[in-house]
Amino acid sequence: MDRSRKIVRVSVIGIAANIVLAAFKAAVGLIAGSIAIVLDAVNNLSDAFSSVVTIVGTKLANKPADRKHPYGHGRVEYITSVIIAVIVLLAGVTSFREAIAAVLHPEAASYSIPMLVIVAAAVAVKFLLGRYVKAKGAELHSESLIASGTDAFFDAAVSSTTLVGALVSLLFHRSIEGWLGILISVFIVKAGVEILMDALSSIIGTRAEENLSSAVRARINAADGVLGTYDLILHHYGPEKIIGSAHIEVPDELTAREIHLLTRKITEDVFHEFGILLTIGIYAANSDDPAVSEIRRDIESAALKYPEILGTHGFYVDEEAKRVSVDLLMDFGADTKEICRAFCEEISAMHPDYRFDVILDSDFSD
Ligand SMILES: [Zn+2]
Repeated sequence: MDRSRKIVRVSVIGIAANIVLAAFKAAVGLIAGSIAIVLDAVNNLSDAFSSVVTIVGTKLANKPADRKHPYGHGRVEYITSVIIAVIVLLAGVTSFREAIAAVLHPEAASYSIPMLVIVAAAVAVKFLLGRYVKAKGAELHSESLIASGTDAFFDAAVSSTTLVGALVSLLFHRSIEGWLGILISVFIVKAGVEILMDALSSIIGTRAEENLSSAVRARINAADGVLGTYDLILHHYGPEKIIGSAHIEVPDELTAREIHLLTRKITEDVFHEFGILLTIGIYAANSDDPAVSEIRRDIESAALKYPEILGTHGFYVDEEAKRVSVDLLMDFGADTKEICRAFCEEISAMHPDYRFDVILDSDFSD
């Protein structure tokens, strides 16, 4: 079974479980006159809605690439998460309003033991459901599933407070329903904000996970003839599709034929192991030459004086043209223009016969 069908199956289980839970809780809540339990039922219904949105999103995201969207439709899943967040936020705000009303005009709820058993069972079911959905989400790399699993997990904790409310009402004949309702709605709103923030962050574009970027780097470095891998950039087009680029450093005596074979091998390896479509750029490295080594040493020690320069690479001396190229890996927030000016001035003064081409690189990945 492919990924999207598995996600759909998990979501359908989630929907069915939440509708059953909501029905039982709504019945108990209405019969007992408990606002907290009714709000808990509303929360379960909003979870069922979220799962419906997850299914629709997965279907849409799985649509193959076309002329207008050549990178596929994987990012639809981020948009789906935004919609889920809005549903959860709406449920939270509505619940909050109801809870405030219950605090202002408290009505005593009346419970029976079977009702309490139903509520307790619902808490347990929700807890198990959350664990199941979250584990499946991690397995299938589905942000929406992880989001709804986490949500269910919290809901179980929140639902258990309705049990506390019922016990307080049975034992002490006091109603803390409204206050519990407020607590529940705060949790719902919090979950909504978190899902929204995560989804927006993915839409904006986040730094690649460190273990992925370092594994890709290690894979490239393992190829024969690669002296170093730099400027690795990874773009996510949905959880399953990554397109990127990297620079590799190779000895300058390699022929076009050798570079062709090498880069082909690397792109194939990286695609097979990680499913990443990688484009490779080439940096040449000088063969051993004392004059070249001296310039390199000077550049490296000059770079060390600036804490904003995280490293140097792409170093190459073209003796014929009297040009030196080097990339400076800049930290975020650094005053790049000023550092570049001071740095270039310094190295040009040390080697006035050469022209320096300095490129400022962003720290895209670890
Ligand atoms: Zn570079």
